[in-house]
Amino acid sequence: KEINLRENNVAKIKVVVRKRPLNKKEIARKEDDVVSVRDNGLIVHEPKLKVDLTAYVEKHEFCFDAVLDQQVTNDEVYRETVQPIIPIIFQRTKATCFAYGQTGSGKTYTMQPLPLRAADDLVRLLNHPTYRNQKFKLWLSYFEIYGGKLYDLLSDRKKLCMREDGKQQVCIVGLQEFEVLDVQIVKEYIERGNAARSTGSTGANEESSRSHAILQLVVKKHNEVKDTRRNNDTNESKGGKVVGKISFIDLAGSERGADTTDNDRQTRMEGAEINKSLLALKECIRALDNDQLHIPFRGSKLTEVLRDSFVGNSRTVMISCISPNAGSCEHTLNTLRYADRVK
Ligand code: ADP
Ligand code: MG
Repeated sequence: KEINLRENNVAKIKVVVRKRPLNKKEIARKEDDVVSVRDNGLIVHEPKLKVDLTAYVEKHEFCFDAVLDQQVTNDEVYRETVQPIIPIIFQRTKATCFAYGQTGSGKTYTMQPLPLRAADDLVRLLNHPTYRNQKFKLWLSYFEIYGGKLYDLLSDRKKLCMREDGKQQVCIVGLQEFEVLDVQIVKEYIERGNAARSTGSTGANEESSRSHAILQLVVKKHNEVKDTRRNNDTNESKGGKVVGKISFIDLAGSERGADTTDNDRQTRMEGAEINKSLLALKECIRALDNDQLHIPFRGSKLTEVLRDSFVGNSRTVMISCISPNAGSCEHTLNTLRYADRVK
């Protein structure tokens, strides 16, 4: 498989929807599949009741850049979303790929394989005759935003803080970066990071759905002499200057943003934080799309961290994950409306 190195016309913002198949439980419950996909459009058949209790179906139609039906593989997802961006990472692009959706809709299933495939392609490009002699290196970091705070998933959940360097570059102080030489390393780091994701008393899945997980692959150019003189608290840590990067973001479950009236104070606070960050994210992507000069990234920790990916030469891919079962209809519609507004 050859990668096309020529500057290609990759849209600044791409919104893709992915539908997962009904799972065993839903099939056992004889739940209906209420989502039908056709080309880049889809229809949600919402079951409703009239006041006299007769059942009817309300149809909701949506259209996106692409809609990936339930049989679409992770390989195809990669080709449709991230792969076109890979070559322009070497041309000073900052890219972000988000997975949005309710818990259980397939965000992690969709997101986990993407950095592996991306790293594979990036490493191949590093070794390509065009770049081989340019002293480029690939670095990986993996952290989490939980309750508005940053934790390094690759160094014992060390709490991190963020700084800007005046040149609109974001620096996460103390974030560990590891050089990527092959895909196997990436696999190991992802597993290590996943094991470190927030797991409270209520169990792993429950808690991790309340945090945003951010995996970054950064291409840096390393200039011998200069490197040693640089202080290492800027983007030029570990020597090297950022050429381009891609961030993979497994967002908190979108339904968690509604946990703002929960009895538990902690849950309520987390819900408010998630709600704030998902709203801020939407506003930033919209501002980006309209070429607005002012990007409201200060609305949340998530968007602040991604600040340098919202300015300059950026690319954004939003993968909205949806569940097909009738019981998830309301969440599915919320997800699709969110995605619709991002466009
Ligand atoms: P989320 O991260 O949004 O909470 P997960 O990615 O954990 O959801 O997916 C929930 C379950 O559904 C998992 O068991 C996962 O393997 C399965 N699943 C998700 N998407 C797909 C898909 N496209 N095809 C097959 N199984 C899927
Ligand atoms: Mg998940």
